[in-house]
Amino acid sequence: MGRRLLIAGNWKMNGMRAELAEIDAIAAAVARGEEGPGELLVSPPATLLSAVRDRLPNEVRVAAQTCHHNAKGAHTGDLSAEMLREAGAEYVILGHSERRSDHRESDDHVRACAQAAIRADLQPIICVGESEAERDAKETLTVLGRQLDGSVPDEATPEALVIAYEPIWAIGTGKTPTADDVAEVHGFLRNRLALRFGHAFASRVRILYGGSVKPSNAAEFFAVDDVDGALIGGASLKAEDFLAIARLARER
Ligand code: PEP
Repeated sequence: MGRRLLIAGNWKMNGMRAELAEIDAIAAAVARGEEGPGELLVSPPATLLSAVRDRLPNEVRVAAQTCHHNAKGAHTGDLSAEMLREAGAEYVILGHSERRSDHRESDDHVRACAQAAIRADLQPIICVGESEAERDAKETLTVLGRQLDGSVPDEATPEALVIAYEPIWAIGTGKTPTADDVAEVHGFLRNRLALRFGHAFASRVRILYGGSVKPSNAAEFFAVDDVDGALIGGASLKAEDFLAIARLARER
């Protein structure tokens, strides 16, 4: 299988320069070899991208939280994938449910941003997830299939593509699906990728789980075969918690 776990911290709209102390703590833990076997990634707000990239060793990845689909132009307030790449990002989170709701981002929009990311040599982390109402209506797999099909571009390559399954009702709520539920969804997502791109492709794509991951529950998700890491919001803001989760990652 050979998919190295990706432990990704999404800082969202949190982080002033004072919080670079958390980045320094991550760098110090990596220098001591205390980061666990997975690949670590931090996604700070765009204002801190360069500072975070400068403070972390190369093996820790840095991600932007969204990008515009154009390379440049009259788009006040937006940042292109090329700009984010130049600022030090190597990945970009796309289609997070907060972007889909706050900015009405559609699957078509997310796909265009993913194409822009690939053009700029940024690896897209494409988020999908059902709402509580959709879950209650037993529409989870229908919704996820539609989001996956619509958001992943034809140009995607398996090594550069990351999918994050983030049930909206689990984000920031302390509620989580069971490991069996996550196994079913991740298996479904991988099969769906296989139907479109083939098995060899699908078996190389990393599929992360996200939604209230903490040091106390991460191990049960990492024990699922098709879970290739975690996208972590709240618990990534403190280096201690983030590293505690990272140390629970399994060697593969
Ligand atoms: C997220 O927003 O990507 C997330 C998973 O948040 P939290 O871990 O806080 O639920």
